[in-house]
Amino acid sequence: MIELKNVCKYYEKGKKKEIILKDISFTIGDNKVIALLGPNGSGKSTLIKCICGVIKPDEGGVFIDGKNSFICRKKIISGMGVVFNQKPSFIVDLSVNDNLQYFKAIYGIKKEEYAKNFERLNKYLDFSELLDRPYRKLSFGERVKCEIASVLLHNPKYIILDEPTIGLDYGVKKRLYNLLDELKKEGHTIVVTTHETEYIEGICDEVVILSDGVIKYYGEPEKVLDINGNIKKITVEYDEVIDEELAREIEGKDFCKKNPNGLELTYYNAREKNKIISDLTSAYDIKKLNVVDTSIREVLEDVIKKIR
Ligand code: ADP
Ligand code: MG
Repeated sequence: MIELKNVCKYYEKGKKKEIILKDISFTIGDNKVIALLGPNGSGKSTLIKCICGVIKPDEGGVFIDGKNSFICRKKIISGMGVVFNQKPSFIVDLSVNDNLQYFKAIYGIKKEEYAKNFERLNKYLDFSELLDRPYRKLSFGERVKCEIASVLLHNPKYIILDEPTIGLDYGVKKRLYNLLDELKKEGHTIVVTTHETEYIEGICDEVVILSDGVIKYYGEPEKVLDINGNIKKITVEYDEVIDEELAREIEGKDFCKKNPNGLELTYYNAREKNKIISDLTSAYDIKKLNVVDTSIREVLEDVIKKIR
């Protein structure tokens, strides 16, 4: 479990102290996937560094399985795999394989475990053909694939990725999220910062939206509220107008609102949405329902846009 307790971070800007993180508290339970979202400069990378114990919060602290992540950073690092945003950890003049062997030695990974993890990571990230190439000759995307693989080779309980998909092509991005999904199912705990909300749906248990170092939203992605307090909506369009009495009856329900295309239904989560639709279709003889859903991605992007 990762507990953030009243984490504050300041940086000196000239003579002024600028607040980067202000009183951040939340808990990441074991076997959870958390997405950290927010505009550039909102404090995501700084928070990631505080979580891993790379920097010390000025106030408050981060506790990993009860241990202060800064004070115990040397102890906890063996149970962590961290990709820092665009900060290569590879030695550029060595080949990819030599680098991976170096990480194998540092983490004390046994031969069989290394082979097993390598095979699985390669299935998703497809980097084995790069092994003999010097790291400095790799393209940016190839480097990112190798970086991600290198921090997962010791099968860490905690996986912390700061914008891991930058530079990856669409196929690799999708496979990376499939890999994260598989790792979650195996019991890993994952924190990922990203701008790409399309991959979050279905894999993240919770999202944290930061803006100017303050949490604007924390909770399940399905329940994300926009900052005006709106909730998710679907529009049910009826092409063939159902009889007027029936329309009036349905439109009278408190979760329904008439809009130019038909009905707008309000709901909080996917389960509730399915229930509303099935209640509606079983109670009324509706000829045709055309459901236009707002994806979680759209809602999240809307929220992020509004706080920019
Ligand atoms: P994000 O990852 O969300 O883009 P960062 O955590 O990198 O945001 O940065 C948050 C704010 O902190 C930015 O305004 C950035 O300029 C500032 N900042 C980050 N690192 C430092 C540093 N080492 N010294 C001074 N200011 C910093
Ligand atoms: Mg960042």
